[in-house]
Amino acid sequence: MRDERKFYIGGQWVRSVEGVDRAVINPSTEERCAVISLGGKADTNAAVAAAKAAFTGWSRSSRADRLDLMRSILDIYIRRSAEMGEAISLEMGAPVDLAKGLQTGIGQVHIEAFIRALECFEFERPLGADTPNDRILYEPIGVCGLITPWNWPMNQVTLKVIPALASGCTMVLKPSEEAPLSSLLFAEYMDEAGVPAGVFNLVNGDGAGVGSQLTAHEDVDLISFTGSTRAGQIITKSTADTVKRVVLELGGKGANIVFEDADENAVSRGALHCFENTGQSCNAPTRMLVHRSRYESAVEEARQAAGAQAVDLAVKTGGHIGPAVNEAQFNRIQDMIARGVEEGAQLVAGGPGKPEGLSRGYFVRPTVFAGCTNDMTVMQQEIFGPVLSIMPFDTEEEAIKIANDTSFGLTNYVQTQDPERANRVARQLRSGMVEMNGNFRTAAAGAPFGGYKQSGNGREGGVWGLEDFMEVKLVGGWNPGA
Ligand code: NAD
Repeated sequence: MRDERKFYIGGQWVRSVEGVDRAVINPSTEERCAVISLGGKADTNAAVAAAKAAFTGWSRSSRADRLDLMRSILDIYIRRSAEMGEAISLEMGAPVDLAKGLQTGIGQVHIEAFIRALECFEFERPLGADTPNDRILYEPIGVCGLITPWNWPMNQVTLKVIPALASGCTMVLKPSEEAPLSSLLFAEYMDEAGVPAGVFNLVNGDGAGVGSQLTAHEDVDLISFTGSTRAGQIITKSTADTVKRVVLELGGKGANIVFEDADENAVSRGALHCFENTGQSCNAPTRMLVHRSRYESAVEEARQAAGAQAVDLAVKTGGHIGPAVNEAQFNRIQDMIARGVEEGAQLVAGGPGKPEGLSRGYFVRPTVFAGCTNDMTVMQQEIFGPVLSIMPFDTEEEAIKIANDTSFGLTNYVQTQDPERANRVARQLRSGMVEMNGNFRTAAAGAPFGGYKQSGNGREGGVWGLEDFMEVKLVGGWNPGA
């Protein structure tokens, strides 16, 4: 078992001052694969103090220096990407092809996009053409606490660490205690790239410990959090006394509206997208709303897609899905499947228990419910497993109403060949993102990622992702020529 009981503070690898051991479990085998330390208050304080001490210097660094550093990080990230894929696969169970492919690759895409965003970001600009003496300055907000989940580990880490660095902030990263190995590796990359001491710090810990110590800390100026809506609510309260900025990226319950003129692959594509990463994606299209004229065939197509979706060990290559991340998540998915049956949804594929031949590991069966109504638990709550819920609709207006009838608002999906309808529906969906006709991978790098309602309040990526980490200062009486 690997010993990973170390933190990265002030440019050094250090042992925890008051940590307790925690095992990292391989979700495919239920075996311990590493041990980490969960830090305590002294560890959190040391990391925040290092970040605070480094702020003055780093906040005054030039754009060119920051770009040089980001390019070095990118080079190392690319060179060591195979190690990253292996770490992600081991800690959270993504099959190795997915882990080495999209799970790791998305981090590279984000680093590249932030380099482009920083190259042309205007840190100083006049308020308007007719107000040359009113100057707007964008300045780094200060010390940032970055708290990330386990489901797409490098996606979230790069969406936070890189813009914080680019905007001149210093930071403490607290990755998920479920998936700490990829972040420890990322800290090695930061060290190798020569990030100045104290600019980037990493402390492992859980939510109740290091997490809540960061959110309440008076020397932390911003919390950027990605995780569950429940934790987002607790964090918002915890940050109130210190009036820090809180950027939240929370859960989702995406609707996928399949109109009568959708292309012939729309249903199977939507089902497979729902199952991807074992359904553990905040933007998964988990509610499929199908026009009644295609409803019966859609249920059959989704049943076949679920039946054909292989499930297997994360170490195996191929396009299968892996296990759920841990026992708690496995049990939650089982509870949700049971609730669906109890509340009268029709089980057409999958169901309770583990897939045949996989008695060890947190494996779940790709599951499809049909005949759902929007008040059912499986239609309203985020399951975070490969569970698709289908219901019919009759009119465009009704479909939009059902799609918006949720406390979430992250990503919705529209399938239609009618371009006017596609745009009209996209405008009316109450979500931070709308993806049409399977274009879920073609949103340009540097696009804003974030939600409406209880899906959060931030926008990560590109110029929006940079602005989240900055204060806006107005200077009146600016001397344009000086
Ligand atoms: P989680 O909320 O349990 O934990 C996320 C992180 O927050 C972990 O690092 C955890 O230790 C920490 N944490 C938990 N409670 C805390 C507290 N009270 N104070 C401070 N930190 C705390 O979420 P998870 O299970 O790791 O991730 C899955 C969730 O993340 C899902 O709800 C998913 O939708 C959401 N998510 C959202 C996005 C997005 O961009 N909107 C992206 C990925 C995942």
